[in-house]
Amino acid sequence: MEIRVASDLQPDSIVDGEGIRTVLWTQGCGHHCKGCHNPETWSFDAGINVDVELVKKELSKIKGQDGITLSGGDPWFQIDACLEIAKYCHELEWNVWCYTGFTWEQIMIMSKGNPNACAFLQEIDVLVDGRFQLEERSLDLKYKGSKNQRIIDVQKSLESGSVVEIEKYQGQKEIGSIYHKPEHIYI
Ligand code: SF4
Repeated sequence: MEIRVASDLQPDSIVDGEGIRTVLWTQGCGHHCKGCHNPETWSFDAGINVDVELVKKELSKIKGQDGITLSGGDPWFQIDACLEIAKYCHELEWNVWCYTGFTWEQIMIMSKGNPNACAFLQEIDVLVDGRFQLEERSLDLKYKGSKNQRIIDVQKSLESGSVVEIEKYQGQKEIGSIYHKPEHIYI
């Protein structure tokens, strides 16, 4: 199985989720949000196809990470490959964050009758959902680019049957925090 990626794996990120994280930038996104920071990741033909087994091998060599962040692009356009990678990251005892332009509610609809979508959701710890909305943009938000997006505890949400946002990420970034990077826009 192959995954289409926009670039190499990016280890040691401290801005794409909590802790020290390796980011996998998937290629391809159909949301086309106005003001998107990564429009070069929209095309489903750009980037390169990589064997998922090779991605796993490269991940196994990266040390000192708390988790992986699946971003893009939108990982939810490549469910099967992202499922395999998320599963493997849990084997490495990494946590899994995933950014998507779909809302939780849309993902619930997509998951009906799609076992791999359900399985992928089971392998995600934190989901940052919803399109980037330029009019809701703020540089003060933790781990997200616009106020409409939610940082969701996936497993608690699945258990309860409704969206459970993670409270500690709902406030604004503290001034002087290591996470404060004014020019960075989360997608
Ligand atoms: S902000 Fe994210 S979801 Fe929106 S177009 Fe860009 S990559 Fe896609």
